[in-house]
Amino acid sequence: MPKESLSPNEVRDMCLAVADKIIESEPILTDADRQLGDGDHGIGMQRGMTAVKEKLGEADYESVGKVFMDMGMAMMSSMGGASGAVFGTLFRAGGKAIKGSETFGASEVGEFFKNAAQGVKDRGGAKPGDKTMVDALDPAAAAAESASGKSLCEALNDVSAAAANGREESKDMIATMGRARTLGEKSLGHPDAGAVSVAIIAQQMADFCGD
Ligand code: ADP
Ligand code: MG
Repeated sequence: MPKESLSPNEVRDMCLAVADKIIESEPILTDADRQLGDGDHGIGMQRGMTAVKEKLGEADYESVGKVFMDMGMAMMSSMGGASGAVFGTLFRAGGKAIKGSETFGASEVGEFFKNAAQGVKDRGGAKPGDKTMVDALDPAAAAAESASGKSLCEALNDVSAAAANGREESKDMIATMGRARTLGEKSLGHPDAGAVSVAIIAQQMADFCGD
């Protein structure tokens, strides 16, 4: 039976699975950032997720939001650079919105992604269409909000599908933010590296629920 909601320690285990998946995906992320940036996105995310595993590994949680907030703090303090702030903010802002919750169900998925996307846009100033991770995160948030009446697994599957679609659509965008903006039209045809990361994160959350 698919789960209707996760406990705080199940959310911790989901986040640890996300961390393992991102660490394993380092070559894919490195390659994506090599096409458009300086090639350090895979190593940066790997470093951040290693810090996440250290921070969450031993902890016992009572709030689902606190798990995500700890994850964001660990990324921010270990990664540095644009993506440390951006991905740290994703988890911190999303987690803060549900810090009073003891369960992670479809409505918390909606709150988490809505506030994560808003937090990242406020922090980094990127808009949809700028060819950043916002182009995967913003559609994921829209899907999450409209899935709040569904089961947890359905909601996470919708989020994952929307993030993957956003990653694909980022191929057709011309970069206007970050390092890739100097490439102009040469950035066409490649997905944004951060959007690739967001799609992997969302896919792993959905896979954890379906297990
Ligand atoms: P850096 O750009 O410092 O080399 P990374 O390579 O780790 O950092 O991450 C690059 C990714 O960060 C980009 O692919 C993009 O998705 C994301 N990014 C960069 N700047 C912003 C921003 N202002 N808002 C949202 N995402 C951003
Ligand atoms: Mg880079």
